[in-house]
Amino acid sequence: MADSVIEPTAQTTTQHTQKRHAAPQPSALDLYNIDHLLSEEERMVRDTVRSFVRERVLPIIGEHFEAGTFPRELIAEIAQMGLLGMHLEGYGCAGLSAVCYGLACQELEYGDSGLRSFVSVQGSLAMFPIWAYGSEEQKQRWLPKMAQGEVIGCFGLTEPDYGSNPAGMLTRAVKDGDSYVVPGPKMWSTNGSIAALAVVCARAEDGIRGFLVEKGTPGFTASDVHHKLSLRASVTSELHFEDCRIPASNMLPNVRGIKGPLGCLDEARYGIAWGANGAAMACYESALDYAKARVQFGKPIGGFQLTQRKLAIMATELVKAQLLALHLGRLKDEGLAHSTQVSLAKRNNVREALNTAREARGVLGGNGITLEYPISRHMNNLESVFTYEGTDDIHTLILGQAITGLSAFS
Ligand SMILES: Cc1cc2nc3c(=O)[nH]c(=O)nc-3n(C[C@H](O)[C@H](O)[C@H](O)COP(=O)(O)OP(=O)(O)OC[C@H]3O[C@@H](n4cnc5c(N)ncnc54)[C@H](O)[C@@H]3O)c2cc1C
Repeated sequence: MADSVIEPTAQTTTQHTQKRHAAPQPSALDLYNIDHLLSEEERMVRDTVRSFVRERVLPIIGEHFEAGTFPRELIAEIAQMGLLGMHLEGYGCAGLSAVCYGLACQELEYGDSGLRSFVSVQGSLAMFPIWAYGSEEQKQRWLPKMAQGEVIGCFGLTEPDYGSNPAGMLTRAVKDGDSYVVPGPKMWSTNGSIAALAVVCARAEDGIRGFLVEKGTPGFTASDVHHKLSLRASVTSELHFEDCRIPASNMLPNVRGIKGPLGCLDEARYGIAWGANGAAMACYESALDYAKARVQFGKPIGGFQLTQRKLAIMATELVKAQLLALHLGRLKDEGLAHSTQVSLAKRNNVREALNTAREARGVLGGNGITLEYPISRHMNNLESVFTYEGTDDIHTLILGQAITGLSAFS
């Protein structure tokens, strides 16, 4: 859409004239000049991913959503742009900043949450544990191929009876000679059936450990979850293990306990905090365009106060969420981000993106429920994003504990 420029008020034209000339004009799509806070490199990453999403994703994503298929044809291009494990250093990874990674997530999710989920799982849930907790041999063997998109990874933490409480997992890794027998199953694994490598969490004799399970390992299979009404352009699978023996050398040696998976979740939740803003941007822009063009009672519906109130709330929440994500990214780049802050941003930004999607859907009236516009697709996707990587409730309790010093979990 064409971005309209906000005219300066009389007051700002007479005051601080020098600064006003240097500052870019706020626009309907960037009311707080957040663009101005980004470095040249950050803008370049954002704009590269933005162009890719506009040119390659938007024309096909509706069809994939309707068919319930993931656009695998885009994997090579995504890898070529350096988006897989882009925030990791070495081993063929791009080694870009947390803010660059966040901006890429934002732009990908402007396209579809399924696409951002693919990149999040590959980079933050499959590559990150190998990078952070793996042996040198494991890193050398897997990370360069994963950065190239030649090996797709998935993450198996959730079980049918243990979702919000992964520490209670039932999956035991039982040592038998030089291997471990892992029974599973693991549920809701994004990328599961297209993955050549699964990072699976299981309880060993010395605590929760991560295991690298290669596709083709006897006894290991993945089957897809069908009939999803959300994240339809994403593969979601159940991982089955039947007398499956995993070589002891495939255990990630450098972490033990629930802090291992929680460290991965923090990485992925960080990307979601940015990604949700992309979905919100797509819904807000679509509603704004529509409100300016759709005429009822003799004038564009954007001219009615009720519609303007909806758009004003969407724009305000978007600005707040973007500033929150950017500040979190800056903290992360300085090594100062805390997981409570990640929880706050994931919870707020997904919640507000979902509110924006619902409000924007209403602005489009009947047209809002079709795939011709992106809003309903985003709204349905965001229901998954609201739930995975810690539900909204779980992040509320994490914040509650941080604020009061009292745990509501036990
Ligand atoms: C599309 C999709 C993709 C996913 N991808 C992955 C993946 O790649 N890897 C992976 O391991 N997992 C994945 N998940 C799993 C996801 O992380 C879990 O669904 C999530 O953690 C919630 O677990 P659950 O579904 O078992 O719900 P439950 O934990 O059973 O929660 C049900 C409800 O109870 C609430 N609740 C739970 N405990 C409390 C409490 N203490 N106080 C108040 N309310 C509470 C929850 O907030 C929720 O509303 C995915 C899920 C989806 C839907």
